[in-house]
Amino acid sequence: MARPTSATIHTDALRHNLGQLRARAPGSRVMAVVKADGYGHGLERVARALGAADAFGVAALSDAERLRAAGLSQPIVLLSGINEPDDIARVRELGVESVVHHHSQLEMLEQAPAGAPVRCWLKVDSGMHRLGFAPEAVRDAHARLEAAPAVAADIVLMNHFASSDEFEGDNGAGRQTREQLRVFAEATAGLPGARSLANSAGVLGWPQAHADWIRPGGALYGMSVVAGTTGADFGLRPAMTLATRLIAINPVCRGEHIGYSATWTCPEDMPVGVAAIGYGDGYPRAAPAGTPVLVNGQPAQVIGRVSMDLMAVDLRGVDARVGDPVILWGPELPVERIAEGAGTIAYELTCSITRRVRFVEQ
Ligand SMILES: *Cc1c(COP(=O)(O)O)cnc(C)c1O
Repeated sequence: MARPTSATIHTDALRHNLGQLRARAPGSRVMAVVKADGYGHGLERVARALGAADAFGVAALSDAERLRAAGLSQPIVLLSGINEPDDIARVRELGVESVVHHHSQLEMLEQAPAGAPVRCWLKVDSGMHRLGFAPEAVRDAHARLEAAPAVAADIVLMNHFASSDEFEGDNGAGRQTREQLRVFAEATAGLPGARSLANSAGVLGWPQAHADWIRPGGALYGMSVVAGTTGADFGLRPAMTLATRLIAINPVCRGEHIGYSATWTCPEDMPVGVAAIGYGDGYPRAAPAGTPVLVNGQPAQVIGRVSMDLMAVDLRGVDARVGDPVILWGPELPVERIAEGAGTIAYELTCSITRRVRFVEQ
């Protein structure tokens, strides 16, 4: 029998979420961010479902190649831009737009051979200090891009938020985002062109940052990065169900220990289920005992250490037989809850699903 572990991708949820984000930012175009294989949901599958997006954002030129090979003709923006001069020819062939965040990229574009102009997204470092030109260098970079024959005339101005998941509130909450908005506005004042500021949390919590283009990733997949919330709190629907089956149910006596390093002790004689999923499938090993799962739709808990292929489940009070379905996350069990227990964010969990998991589209 095939391994029963599967990730079901709900393409209707992807479309629903795109609609929700459009409704929140009616004046903005939407760049659907599909980097990291569509946050682990499958690049081509996600892009087809989100065909109504105005553009796709990717982190690698190889992703742009895959999207074009799949027949998708929407604009594609390379979010980290080009890495070497030869990338310019590929960018032109594929009709890809490029973020320009560093002097080295500016120089490559200035020295590019004649050819089709590349549309550029000039990135301002408004305070995250990851990628982008310092505020005082933005005007010079913009002028040089405008003067470069390889660069198309309509340059977009963008930044990226470090803390937009913290919404504006009392006690100065949201201070960094307010400051980033101020720095970006000042650095770009008077420059022509569209603006793009907001990631998912920016769309959900910072309407003043919607601008001309929003760039949601996680929210499209139904995930929230706002602490203590789930996508459903924002009207979003999870796009992935991770599921497996019970492959054993064993009676274990009181005082016996479960799993590697014997980290969990049975408080009474009890049935212990074994589910065919582990960190080799991408389920987080850091998920502690007590992490929720659904067995036959009933709440149950992980016990002991998650191992590579398997996990143990406390089946006390649960009606279950070998072969019954176990849901690890999905619409009935928010992935954000699992992430919180494992000390990470939902994005990392969906991105970590491994190749042996069977993907199903629904
Ligand atoms: C990943 C990314 C996004 C999307 O972020 P989410 O939090 O998933 O919405 C937007 N813009 C840039 C530049 C990114 O790298």
